[in-house]
Amino acid sequence: MMAAHIIDGKAFAATVRGKVADHVAKLKDEHGITPGLAVVLVGEDPASQVYVRSKGKQTVEVGMTSIEHKLPADTDEATLLALIDTLNTDPEVHGILVQLPLPKHLDEDLVINSIDPAKDVDGFHISNVGLLGTGQKSMVPCTPLGCLMMLRDYHGSLSGMDAVVIGRSNIVGKPMAQLLLGDSCTVTIAHSRTKDLADVVRRADIVVAAVGRPEMVPGDWIKPGATVIDVGINRIEKPDGGTRLVGDCDYASCAEVAGAITPVPGGVGPMTIACLLANTVTACCRANGLPEPSGLTA
Ligand code: NDP
Repeated sequence: MMAAHIIDGKAFAATVRGKVADHVAKLKDEHGITPGLAVVLVGEDPASQVYVRSKGKQTVEVGMTSIEHKLPADTDEATLLALIDTLNTDPEVHGILVQLPLPKHLDEDLVINSIDPAKDVDGFHISNVGLLGTGQKSMVPCTPLGCLMMLRDYHGSLSGMDAVVIGRSNIVGKPMAQLLLGDSCTVTIAHSRTKDLADVVRRADIVVAAVGRPEMVPGDWIKPGATVIDVGINRIEKPDGGTRLVGDCDYASCAEVAGAITPVPGGVGPMTIACLLANTVTACCRANGLPEPSGLTA
């Protein structure tokens, strides 16, 4: 039995953070510029609070300035838009991230599209979506950017490979498909209405699973030697009553057939914040007309 190469996202993310830190040091030394990332959190969603805390911590660790704005859950639209406007015009702020989901009374599209696209380090602004879709320089959503970096690192060129992305969300599936297309893969996007998903997945040299259904993809859907990128993060109950995290792929059976696979946890997950930091330093360089760090963009 051939065991798959395990793509170590934790180690890769540390490498990306190292490159970001080096570039931040260079910006400070040579230009007196410190990249700044502003994170806006509205309300008290516990998962969002955890994410925002680790984003802030890692931002500081790579030498950038972290600016956190915590607003109460009942913040009205005008107040939030006014804050974003202030951040848009603040020269010390190079990246702005509004933590999603927002409380129900706020219009997420409206809020995201009020961010200056040049500072939209999540890559969700409609301008960045359009730029990515037309192959122009943009801010690329962090999770798919992390997946692309790992794929390029492992394969070198992705040109001509058959890629299947399972999931068509605006956050992961669609931008992932655009990035793979940009690297000249033949891309199929599967979703909940896809017929014969097993057959579709069996054709793939690259499978990216971004569904949110625990261990949905079994090993017998995987073409021998294919690369499996598992974006899913699902908490399931263990027989002993505790919980554990699993991906959208059944790791044990997929790892028996795949050529390479990302584990959960420790695969795609750690890459997301690393790419947020990468996007922030990229945004800072662009804002100042300086060369971008290589290997940190799409
Ligand atoms: P969404 O719920 O927004 O999208 C899920 C997609 O999966 C939809 O397009 C849906 O299809 C599709 N889908 C649902 N059921 C099936 C099925 N039975 N067969 C095929 N496709 C199906 O999720 P996200 O894209 O936001 O996230 C996906 C997963 O990735 C989650 O587990 C999430 O936790 C994780 N995630 C991890 C991140 C990280 O690593 N840092 C970041 C973001 C997400 P349809 O459109 O037809 O409904």
